Amino acid sequence: MASDNFPIGSGPLARRSSCQSVIRHGEHAVLLGGGAPVVVQSMTNTDTADAIGTAIQIKELARAGSELVRITVNNAEAAAAVPAIREQLDKMGITVPLVGDFHYNGHTLLNDYPDCAAALSKYRINPGNVGQGAKRDTQFAQMIEVACRHDKPVRIGVNWGSLDQALLARIMDENAARARPWPAQSVMYEALITSAIENAQRAEEIGLARNKIILSCKVSGVQDLIAVYRELARRCDYPLHLGLTEAGMGSKGIVASTAAMAVLLQEGIGDTIRISLTPEPGGDRCKEVIVGQEMLQTMGLRKFAPMVIACPGCGRTTSTVFQELADNIQTYLRDQMPVWKLEYPGVEGMNVAVMGCIVNGPGESKHANIGISLPGTGESPAAPVFVDGEKTVTLRGERIAEEFHAIVLEYVQTRYKKQAVAA
Ligand code: SF4
Repeated sequence: MASDNFPIGSGPLARRSSCQSVIRHGEHAVLLGGGAPVVVQSMTNTDTADAIGTAIQIKELARAGSELVRITVNNAEAAAAVPAIREQLDKMGITVPLVGDFHYNGHTLLNDYPDCAAALSKYRINPGNVGQGAKRDTQFAQMIEVACRHDKPVRIGVNWGSLDQALLARIMDENAARARPWPAQSVMYEALITSAIENAQRAEEIGLARNKIILSCKVSGVQDLIAVYRELARRCDYPLHLGLTEAGMGSKGIVASTAAMAVLLQEGIGDTIRISLTPEPGGDRCKEVIVGQEMLQTMGLRKFAPMVIACPGCGRTTSTVFQELADNIQTYLRDQMPVWKLEYPGVEGMNVAVMGCIVNGPGESKHANIGISLPGTGESPAAPVFVDGEKTVTLRGERIAEEFHAIVLEYVQTRYKKQAVAA
């Protein structure tokens, strides 16, 4: 007998991290874990000592949608600049919380520059770069004590390129003592996970609250990242920061990052993400933010900006008109979002279809909020427009792009207009 239960399409699993951290700057709070939406973050590549240049890039990243921005704090000049960067951002009305990235000398900088420690909203500590031998535990404790004093959350960020060598040696010794030793890859996974969890436990023993700890274990291989985070999520309930380290440039970096993170996010693993793209020379740093948003939005996990559905084109589209229109409308929609998200709530969920010919054009356009089916080669030079599934007008001539823009804008202004709140 046929079952009444529809068997297909369970969607992403609920977030697994039950513990929730709050990253604050003033009144502005970003939630990580505990069922909160997955947060997109990014990192600057300016010299932090250049307070103005860094503040400008943070503003750009925040305007692109980065919900947390990490800056390196690598020397005294950088630490001294952090309060000025924060002040500059506050003056510009940019409330995005700042995360300080510390390696080697974080214990000194956080103690010597209390205004820097106070201006940051969260610290990232790499336990593999805290110090050697007996100094390691002391210097780690010093950083955690500063975090406790300033009431700041800490990400314990393990990276396989800078794994704690003493811990790795210990895990290798334990493995050698096994009757059937694990393969080297499993030993590396175990060392990464153990480093994150043991350091989190140590931070708690020093006095850092459980809900002030976020963990990450970054590697550069897709299958390695999936394996490590599945096990990390199984062993703890701290919020997890996902990222494929050294993902690379261009499409390779985008594909590798999304291939790894999409699998984990679908399983409910990961509370915040960063796409570690290497920018092209002179390229836009904000690309990593847009890729992160598009990954979450195409997976149905968040909505950030209206999406443009466009066909790939084929032999039926011998002109570039439809590619230009798809590109143009995508850029236009994203550029409007800083204003639109305040003025037109819900507009981020809008879909716009730009299709190249009659084969799939009308069908796909009917499924979108607004769609246009451009004429393919040999078709009559007419472009029917569909609004909420109904054909409303057919555009012709040289001004199809401008007229379609106007239709999109009018739709946004009427459909997503803020409703007056009843007195
Ligand atoms: S909609 Fe038309 S132009 Fe676009 S890919 Fe399909 S057949 Fe080709």
